[in-house]
Amino acid sequence: MGRSDSYVVRISGLGEGEHGFSFDLGQKFFASFDESEIEHGKVNARVILEKRQGIMVLHFHLKGDVEVTCDRCLDLFMTKVQCDQQLIVKRGDIPGEAEDDVIVIGKEDHEIDIRQYLYEFVILALPCKRIHSPDKHGLSTCNPAMIEILEAHQENRNNRREGTDPRWNALKEITGNNK
Ligand SMILES: [Zn+2]
Repeated sequence: MGRSDSYVVRISGLGEGEHGFSFDLGQKFFASFDESEIEHGKVNARVILEKRQGIMVLHFHLKGDVEVTCDRCLDLFMTKVQCDQQLIVKRGDIPGEAEDDVIVIGKEDHEIDIRQYLYEFVILALPCKRIHSPDKHGLSTCNPAMIEILEAHQENRNNRREGTDPRWNALKEITGNNK
């Protein structure tokens, strides 16, 4: 994947004060990350660059929907993401991430590539528990067919753990080790 120019904040020629940028993160954006946890999504990122007396701070406000896998039924569903983050921008000899919340850019850089940060912020904003939300009656909206299969599978596993798997009993009879 080549470097994308779509997710950069140009800083050359900006005066002191606040400067706003807006980025749309769609399918193409998420697909551009290898082994991305998210394939589909629609997130808007509002970015404010605050520039004062040689200090630069990026303020991020992300809001949108992304598709995730349900922890219970494994179906895909859309979940809301929203977050606020900020990063301090410093100029230095070694561009790259120096510490949390700080971006180090080259002394002569005219722009800041925020693509990776935008992606990480979306991932951070994902809920820990990803489960289909219940309907207005409080009933599960998970894929019922899948839940049935998973429950049957779970029952099987429990049986096996308790040693009541019929195959296991048959084996014990054969070996005469049935104490
Ligand atoms: Zn589900």
